[in-house]
Amino acid sequence: MTDDLETPRRPTPGELTFTSPRRSKPPRHLADMTTADRREAVTALGLPAFRADQVSRHYFHRLSADPTEWTDVPAAQREQLAHALTPTLMTPVRELTADRGTTRKTLWRLHDGSLVESVLMRYPDRVTMCVSSQAGCGMNCPFCATGQAGLTRNMSTGEIVEQVVSGARQLAAGDVPGGPGRVSNVVFMGMGEPLANYKAVIGALHRFVDPSPAGLGMSARGITVSTVGLVPRIRELAAEGLPVTLAVSLHAPDDELRDTLVPVNTRWKVSEVLDAAWEYARTTKRRVSIEYALIKDINDQAWRADLLAKRLRGKLVHVNLIPLNPTPGSKWTASRPEDEREFVRRLEAGGIAVTVRDTRGREIDGACGQLAAAE
Ligand code: SF4
Repeated sequence: MTDDLETPRRPTPGELTFTSPRRSKPPRHLADMTTADRREAVTALGLPAFRADQVSRHYFHRLSADPTEWTDVPAAQREQLAHALTPTLMTPVRELTADRGTTRKTLWRLHDGSLVESVLMRYPDRVTMCVSSQAGCGMNCPFCATGQAGLTRNMSTGEIVEQVVSGARQLAAGDVPGGPGRVSNVVFMGMGEPLANYKAVIGALHRFVDPSPAGLGMSARGITVSTVGLVPRIRELAAEGLPVTLAVSLHAPDDELRDTLVPVNTRWKVSEVLDAAWEYARTTKRRVSIEYALIKDINDQAWRADLLAKRLRGKLVHVNLIPLNPTPGSKWTASRPEDEREFVRRLEAGGIAVTVRDTRGREIDGACGQLAAAE
């Protein structure tokens, strides 16, 4: 299939891609389906509908996609059910570990050869899975390796969910130092702009929070959806009734710089993005996260910290400053420590809650997209 070998066209500076160029569809998986759809898929095979619930329980609760372990299902039906409900969606190409095995990054190959990555991060009090929502990304942020490579295609709900289930399996099996555990948090901060793949992401959010056997039964409070600021989608997300945390990748408080740093700003300006974020906070009662990658001499000036504080003052908001993890050969690099300190000080002086994000997995190319870009 020539499609498998296709590489996406590199975008020209500032070019935005909202629609998935590649149309190849991954196999349909039970994680793509509602409970009713799963039952229908099973009855179409001439099997009783409750088999769908049994297989769902194996997948989401026992974290098993191996039909030989489904001992409550007649042996003769297991392969047929596995074929219809749990086809292989992705295979690991490489796994890299850091922080004494508590940070694990997996590079996955999807059915059509697309590469994506996920990262498991274990902390003393939680386990966070950072997932990809698209193969590549169409938002073209100039400091980001994924953005420079362009968008290959949208991922399916099943492909997004499988990244978390696979991390949950590793934890349950005790493969991550610290003993058996569970995934408590999911952040959509891997490859892709989640809100540009809206329908599949909403499906994944439902699978994460739906109680077993329909889904993983996680708390919506532990889930963060990030966006560069697709304003109509932020408003839609607010109306979904899923109180996940919204993280806005702002990276600049002024339109002049943000137009180049986050090219989607040419479509929706800082004030429009922030208005949508405040509406999100009002509707969901959830504090909005503002993500700000500190880039040396680009967006880390003291006056920008003051302007950011002014724009956020009095809102239900928290700022996450991210020391930029430089891409090899790139002119974009992390701020000087003294500039970072001054930026924090000015935000705090302006009454804004701020943390500097712990940059896990630096030694394994922790910035989004770097592992896949290196393949
Ligand atoms: S920073 Fe995020 S939104 Fe921007 S190009 Fe990279 S993956 Fe896409």
